[in-house]
Amino acid sequence: MTEAKNRPIRWAMVGGGRGSQIGSIHRSAALRDNTFELVAGAFDIDAARGRAFGVDLGLDPVRSYPDYVSMFAAEAERPDGIEAVSIATPNNTHFAICKAALEHDLHVICEKPLCFTVAEAEELKALSQARGRIVGVTYGYAGHQMIEQARAMVRNGDLGEIRIVNLQFAHGFHSAAVEEQNPSTRWRVDPKFAGPSYVLGDVGTHPLYLSEVILPHLTIKRLMCARQSFVKSRAPLEDNAVTLMEYDNGAIANIWSSAVNAGSMHGQKVRIVGSKASIEWWDERPNQLSFEIQGEPVRILERGMDYLYPQARIDDRIGGGHPEGLFEAWANLYRRFGLAISGTRGLAPEGLEDLVFPGVDAGLEGVRWVENCVRSADAGGIWVDYR
Ligand code: NAD
Repeated sequence: MTEAKNRPIRWAMVGGGRGSQIGSIHRSAALRDNTFELVAGAFDIDAARGRAFGVDLGLDPVRSYPDYVSMFAAEAERPDGIEAVSIATPNNTHFAICKAALEHDLHVICEKPLCFTVAEAEELKALSQARGRIVGVTYGYAGHQMIEQARAMVRNGDLGEIRIVNLQFAHGFHSAAVEEQNPSTRWRVDPKFAGPSYVLGDVGTHPLYLSEVILPHLTIKRLMCARQSFVKSRAPLEDNAVTLMEYDNGAIANIWSSAVNAGSMHGQKVRIVGSKASIEWWDERPNQLSFEIQGEPVRILERGMDYLYPQARIDDRIGGGHPEGLFEAWANLYRRFGLAISGTRGLAPEGLEDLVFPGVDAGLEGVRWVENCVRSADAGGIWVDYR
C-alpha cells in the first residue's frame, strides 16, 4: 500500500455525535492513513452536546459548532478552513447538508442514501460537477480487498459469461419492535426521517453497489419488488423486501433486503454465477472469496496472497493471514476518497484513473434503485422499466 505523501485534507463532520452508530468508524477510517485531519465539526442535533463532544475529540472549541450552517459560513472565512466534510446524520437531512456543502465548494463524503429522489441526486451531481468537487458515498464494504479480486476475476473472464447474480443483506436485529427502546432504529422506520423505504435503502443498496463494482458491464433493464412490514407498526415502511432484476444482456439478479432474518448476524452475501464458475463472498468473513469451478473442488482465495490479481493487493497493509475487517475496508475507502480529492488539487498519484470508489453516480444509482423498488412494490409487485 502506498502511504500518503501529501498533507492531510482539512476535514469536518456533520452528525456522527456521541453514541451514534456510524460516527466512530468515519473518524477511524478518515484518520487511519493521515489522509484527513479532523479540524471542525457540528456533530449533534443537540448543539450543546455536539460542541462538548467536539472538544472531547480535541478540536479547538471555536471550531466545534452548534450546527452545520454556522460551520460552513465560519470555515469559509478562515484561511485554514475545511476542504471536505462527512455527513453522518439521519437520511432526511442528507440532501440539504450535501447541497450546502457543495455550495461552499467543499468535497463531500455522504452517508447512504445520498438523498430521497432521483431528481435530488441529479441536482447534487450537477452541482458537484459545476463546482469541481468530489461526492463520495460510504458504501463501506466496497473497501474490502476481495471485492477488487472479484471485479478482476469477472473482467478477466474467470467465470465465463455472467448469468445469475444472487445478493442479500438480511440481518435479524430488528425481528421485534426494538425501535420502542432504540432511537437509532426509531428514525429508520419513520418515513419523515428514513424516506420512502427502510431496508431497501438501509441495507439493500450495499450489495447493489458491490454488484456495480464487480459487474460494471451489466445494466439493469427492469425490476420487480415485493415488500412487507412483518412488525406491523413499521408500515408503510418495509422490514423485508425481495427484488428481482433483469440486466440488458439477459442475466438475472435478486436482492433480499431484510432486518427480520431472525438469528442472522449480518447476512450480506454476493454470489456471481458464470457459465464456467461462480464466486461467493460473505461480509462476515470478508478475507475469503470462494471460487467454484464446475467439476472441480471449491477453492477459498485468501486476502493478501500473491496469487490474487494486483488490484486486490493495492490496499494490503500487512500481508496475508492477518485478518482485516470493516474498519480497514472503510479506511481503504477513505484513502480512495482522499486520492480522488487530491487529484482535483492537481496532485494526482499514480493510478488515479483506476481508482474505484463510490462517487456521486453510486449515490444516484442507489436512490434510483430504491425509487424503482418502491414504485414496483406499491403497484402490487409489477415489472417496471429501470430508466
Ligand atoms: P444515529 O441516529 O445513531 O446518529 C445520528 C447522529 O446524527 C446523532 O449524533 C445525531 O445527534 C446527529 N444529527 C442528527 N441530525 C443532525 C443535524 N441536523 N446536524 C448535526 N447532527 C445531527 O444514526 P446512524 O445509525 O449513525 O446513521 C446515520 C447515517 O448513517 C444514516 O444515513 C444511515 O443510513 C447511515 N449509516 C450507514 C452505514 C453504512 O454502512 N454506510 C451504517 C449505519 C448507518
